[in-house]
Amino acid sequence: MIKTDVLIIGAGPVGLFAVFELGLLDIKAHLVDILDKVGGQCAELYPEKPIYDIPGIPYITGHGLTDALMAQIKPFNPTFHLGEMVTTLDKIGEPAFRVATDAGKTFEAKCVVIAAGGGSFQPKRPPINGIEPYEEKSVFYAVRKMENFRDKKLLIVGGGDSALDWTLNLQPVAQRLTLVHRRDEFRGAPDSVNKMRELVAAGQMDLKIGQVSELEGDGGKLAAVSIKDKAGATSRVEIDAMLPFFGLTMKLGPVADWGLELKDNLIPVDTGTFESNVPGLFAIGDINTYPGKLKLILSGFHEAALMAQQAYHYVFPDKKLMFQYTTSSTSLQKKLGVA
Ligand SMILES: Cc1cc2nc3c(=O)[nH]c(=O)nc-3n(C[C@H](O)[C@H](O)[C@H](O)COP(=O)(O)OP(=O)(O)OC[C@H]3O[C@@H](n4cnc5c(N)ncnc54)[C@H](O)[C@@H]3O)c2cc1C
Repeated sequence: MIKTDVLIIGAGPVGLFAVFELGLLDIKAHLVDILDKVGGQCAELYPEKPIYDIPGIPYITGHGLTDALMAQIKPFNPTFHLGEMVTTLDKIGEPAFRVATDAGKTFEAKCVVIAAGGGSFQPKRPPINGIEPYEEKSVFYAVRKMENFRDKKLLIVGGGDSALDWTLNLQPVAQRLTLVHRRDEFRGAPDSVNKMRELVAAGQMDLKIGQVSELEGDGGKLAAVSIKDKAGATSRVEIDAMLPFFGLTMKLGPVADWGLELKDNLIPVDTGTFESNVPGLFAIGDINTYPGKLKLILSGFHEAALMAQQAYHYVFPDKKLMFQYTTSSTSLQKKLGVA
């Protein structure tokens, strides 16, 4: 049994920043995440892609933001429980909660912060027979490291932003890149579509309209694919790796079983405190909903700050909370280890 002031479910960017806001108020936190790493969507889905709308940071990659958040929360020494899924959450006091993970750990916390994003996200598998044995060997649903694809013959499948963005990012790295989409119209940003077409016109990559109908390979290693066009004609492309981007299914997972009031699989919150309908049980980041909600990292950061103010009253019921700036408060600076 691990006792903590606050248990944070989800170590995405918003869960990480919550550690900072809680830490400034002397509130200790443990974090649990299903993934084997911190950073949530930033680390899992777009580690090397740029983010341009973090206030005060003109440009940072998903990986860079995760590292920066980890550096920022270091003074508060949070404890991470990675590779574990929170399965049950029970109310045991006013407020107090018991939380259990699938790895057999149990926590008792005064407050729980659900920062579970879209829940456990899983890529949609394309409808291609016999794809499973190639997955994670030569079929990848996410690009963890672009270098892994250097000088490889790549096939990207899809017509949305992810397929187009990775086409543009990987084309300079790959030996040869082919993009396959079932029709000659793309859902992705027009600017990306134009750039992709320019590369095709310049002979620097290939575009095929059709669907992958067959995989050729052995022992998980792909050698070639067959692509069938609308008229039924088939062409063969030799490849080393295939990257299908058919979107993600966000599986809410166990959050749905915790007796919370949900709206469209999201947790409605009070925008003054970011508390759910259960006092002491907060929801911040992509998992919550309220009028005007934007699923942006910056919104989650704001929500974390207000959540911490309310959590303080549950963790220290007899203390008065003083509002302070990090710029001028020696007490806050001491907590940050800079004074
Ligand atoms: C391709 C792409 C580009 C994007 N670009 C931008 C951008 O430019 N700017 C921007 O502001 N936003 C962007 N976003 C959105 C941004 O990534 C999300 O708003 C942000 O990640 C939400 O953070 P979060 O911490 O709430 O959730 P997440 O990042 O989803 O993290 C939630 C974490 O909770 C964990 N979890 C879920 N359920 C459980 C459970 N039961 N037990 C344990 N752990 C659990 C998950 O494993 C996950 O790691 C982009 C998203 C994508 C997909």
